[in-house]
Amino acid sequence: MHNNFIMPNTLVYELENKIYINLTNRCTNDCIFCLRNDKDDVYGSNLQLENENFTAQDVIEQLTEKLKAEQNPSDEIVFCGYGEPTLKLSVLKEVAQYIKENYPGKKIRINTNGHANFIHKRNVVPELKGLVDEISVSLNAPTPEQYDELSKPKFKDAYDEVISFIQSCSDNGITTTASVVEGYKGLGLNLEDCRKTSEKHGAKLRIRKWIENGY
Ligand code: SF4
Repeated sequence: MHNNFIMPNTLVYELENKIYINLTNRCTNDCIFCLRNDKDDVYGSNLQLENENFTAQDVIEQLTEKLKAEQNPSDEIVFCGYGEPTLKLSVLKEVAQYIKENYPGKKIRINTNGHANFIHKRNVVPELKGLVDEISVSLNAPTPEQYDELSKPKFKDAYDEVISFIQSCSDNGITTTASVVEGYKGLGLNLEDCRKTSEKHGAKLRIRKWIENGY
């Protein structure tokens, strides 16, 4: 049944004294450990968007409200929500530009699945240079086979895409981290191979422990 009381989209939220921007619920992966599958709440912020027809200005409005209310100003703003932020690349760039111009002390990070160049059919990394200080890319696995098993990408050869995205980010001088989630339902990953792959392409490896009901 349609509910007449519609909550406004949560485009900006706070988690452990950091401000996050939630641009979409869509993704080109369908990871088996994705929290979009189990719950719609990250520490009290409902991140399921009612619609995705918002503009960069809508995000900026929510962001400035949050920044005004900040008790202990954080040094970083992160594009990360229940979906792949680079699907909203033009909004992301406009908001990042606004942050750089108006809050030059804040660092900007994107947490991404690394599919942006496939999505946009061009290398978008040079467009992010100067806007984004750090990119955290979900490597998720040491091999294409295991990546497909864990991340269930919606297109072929996605693992190669992720690797070349990581390489492009590091080539463009953006601090790049490759991340893996360890311990989901006892699944084992060869972390040493993940580390070698990350370092070979200019990124540090970050291992996140799977936490039930946490991000
Ligand atoms: S890449 Fe992130 S948002 Fe997309 S399905 Fe995987 S965990 Fe979820």
